[in-house]
Amino acid sequence: MANGGDELVFAPLGGVGEIGMNLAIYGLGAERSRQWIIVDVGVSFASEEQLPGVDLILPDIRYLLEQRKNVLGIVLTHAHEDHFGALIDLWPRLKLPIYATPFTAALFEAKRLGERGAPEIPINIVPLGGRFSLGPFDIEYVSMAHSIPESNGLILRTRLGTVLHTGDWKIDPTPVIEPPTDEAKLRALGNDGCLALLGDSTNAVREGRSPSETDVAKTLAALIASARGRVGVTTFASNVARIRSVALAAAGCDREVVLVGRAMERVAQVARETGYLEGVKDFRSADVYGYLPPDKVVALCTGSQGEPRAALARIAEGNHPEVTFGRGDRIIFSSRAIPGNEKGVSRIINGLVDQGIEVITDRTHLVHVSGHPRRAELLDMIGWVRPKILIPVHGEALHMAEHATLARQAGVAQVLQCRNGDLVRLAPGTAEVIDEVPAGRLYKDGSLLVGAEQRTVADRRRLGFSGLVSVALAVTDRGELVGDPEVELTGIPEADRDGNLMAQLAFDAVLEAFDSMPRPRRRDPDAIAEAARRAVRAAIGAAWNKKPMCHVHVLTV
Ligand SMILES: [Zn+2]
Ligand SMILES: [Zn+2]
Repeated sequence: MANGGDELVFAPLGGVGEIGMNLAIYGLGAERSRQWIIVDVGVSFASEEQLPGVDLILPDIRYLLEQRKNVLGIVLTHAHEDHFGALIDLWPRLKLPIYATPFTAALFEAKRLGERGAPEIPINIVPLGGRFSLGPFDIEYVSMAHSIPESNGLILRTRLGTVLHTGDWKIDPTPVIEPPTDEAKLRALGNDGCLALLGDSTNAVREGRSPSETDVAKTLAALIASARGRVGVTTFASNVARIRSVALAAAGCDREVVLVGRAMERVAQVARETGYLEGVKDFRSADVYGYLPPDKVVALCTGSQGEPRAALARIAEGNHPEVTFGRGDRIIFSSRAIPGNEKGVSRIINGLVDQGIEVITDRTHLVHVSGHPRRAELLDMIGWVRPKILIPVHGEALHMAEHATLARQAGVAQVLQCRNGDLVRLAPGTAEVIDEVPAGRLYKDGSLLVGAEQRTVADRRRLGFSGLVSVALAVTDRGELVGDPEVELTGIPEADRDGNLMAQLAFDAVLEAFDSMPRPRRRDPDAIAEAARRAVRAAIGAAWNKKPMCHVHVLTV
């Protein structure tokens, strides 16, 4: 296809080949004058072992900064962190108008207010099912059932065709929090003609359909009703339907609901303001917990993913200031560990079981359902919308491959798999990857954003694995050593198997390396440093079978 032609394109800058860090861009126009919209600006969570000290992973938005003057705005699908979690950090660089439905906007604002030093970030509120324009894009929200209020798909109408960006969704006719997935609007889209569907692949490996949120509510009600002592329930704070179900179940057996954890309080507040907790009695704060009889309380706790600083972790360690559980009490995990969090979750479960607490999880009871579509639901969506093109997104490689196979079997004419950074032409002509755009990751490291390609975190991982040797030595301008080298070890065993001190081995290695250098070379500080570094790493490596990092400072006097 010739450059300069009018094209509709899509590029994922995150969220493809991974679950997390969703950021999709759609462009319309000729290459040089293309106008863009951004859908979602999410984060991923880092694992401590792989990325020590990194709190969050954000999409690299270099390309959007290059294209900045042609980017029209940011459209948010829903308020999960993997869809809007990077916005507070990245918005100041983009300063673009943001569009979101009321709950998403309110939760974003509450989160922003809770973050020290966060700038003011205005959001344009779009009503549920609302429609608006950004340049040549006519954008319409479609309500989807999910695991947070107001999850939305986006219908993007353009002069070159209509795209459905599903966002996160499932089909649940009884979702506890209305509205359910807007089947009528999706069928109408199919009748009008849909060029491309870019869809959630998270559960594409699972047969059948997700159970309904209402089935979970029934199980929770039975488990709370049959409990004799205290009841604790942990779930994602943003799962307002689950909070609502727990609250109604508690009210049904005359128990008060106590919120434990800041995120739980924040979401409950926002859900009240936006009308999603109507008919639910006011919650109590954790400071009254100790005064309530055991059979009159349900504690809703943060920490279902094993987060070490969240309420449940502190309860499991027996050091929460206000909330304790004991023998005969029951704690329900209304959640499932996200891959990578399993260890943290088991640690907490074991801590609770050790205290004689009964722990109930989704292994034995229907106390949790996923918010993503299984295979029968994916087929329903394809049947309603009948897209010409389907591109799996929001999944790891396996999920996307399964989604692609399913779409082909369902008769979708063009099924295309792509990677983060691929520029995909959707129209005109056959859908294909036509280019690559810069994409990557940023790490939130303390209060700073660092590029994943920088050595910072890799160095930190090496330090954590094999420590550091620091050497300082001084030489005259004639190449003579002044005094003894200083050697300091960090994170390295004190002595080898035979009792030789590692510091001594390093010291000897430095002197030997220096002495074996030809005299003229001894005047070159860089050459001395390099020789000493190699010698120290070799000597410690021989004694330990691990090579530490080594820094050598050579002073010339
Ligand atoms: Zn979601
Ligand atoms: Zn998601």
